[in-house]
Amino acid sequence: MKFTVAVDGPAAAGKGTVARAIAAEFGFAHLDTGLLYRAVGRRVLEGVPPEIAASTLRHGDVVRDGLRAPEVSRAASEVAALPDVRQALVEFQREFAGRDGGAVLDGRDIGTVICPDAEAKLFVIASDATRAHRRWLELTAAGHDVTEAGVLDDIRERDARDAGRRDAPMKAASDAVVLDTSDLDVEEAAAFALEVVRTRLEGREGV
Ligand code: C5P
Repeated sequence: MKFTVAVDGPAAAGKGTVARAIAAEFGFAHLDTGLLYRAVGRRVLEGVPPEIAASTLRHGDVVRDGLRAPEVSRAASEVAALPDVRQALVEFQREFAGRDGGAVLDGRDIGTVICPDAEAKLFVIASDATRAHRRWLELTAAGHDVTEAGVLDDIRERDARDAGRRDAPMKAASDAVVLDTSDLDVEEAAAFALEVVRTRLEGREGV
């Protein structure tokens, strides 16, 4: 069975949490596509040209430690604006999305560019203050020395770059369901997303 779920949205809105809950509930494979761009950004910080870093990306690059560090986030969103970098990563993502047994991919352009025909699409948002607070908690727990105001600046800068780029800008697909997690806890956000996917699955099985 092919069944693809696209989960898009800005930084730290809860996409990963929602995508993991969907994968666990329905037994789908999960791909955090941000990790691909982070891995490319990390290699670029080490001196590899962006197009080479993207076209020679290996599994080992995406499971390295430190990919969530603030400087890697910034580098990821810079390389993500380069059409050659995006192009090099398209095929892998589409193959993953088409795998038998169902797949959920989270990112910025999954519902619009990578999988415009995805069976279910969610666009996850949250207020800037909520997102900054969550990301600050994560980063400080991981030992990064950051302030909440600095994190807020970083995610605003990254969102502006991601939404403003010419190639595959971050935006909600016209048929995406918007999920605002500002006032929801993890369980509530997951329950909403699971219901959206369940409805699509049932609709499809009825065809
Ligand atoms: O999702 P995450 O915050 O880990 O993504 C890091 C960066 O990778 C984003 O800021 C964005 O620039 C880029 N990205 C993208 N398209 C995706 C996933 C991530 O451009 N599908």
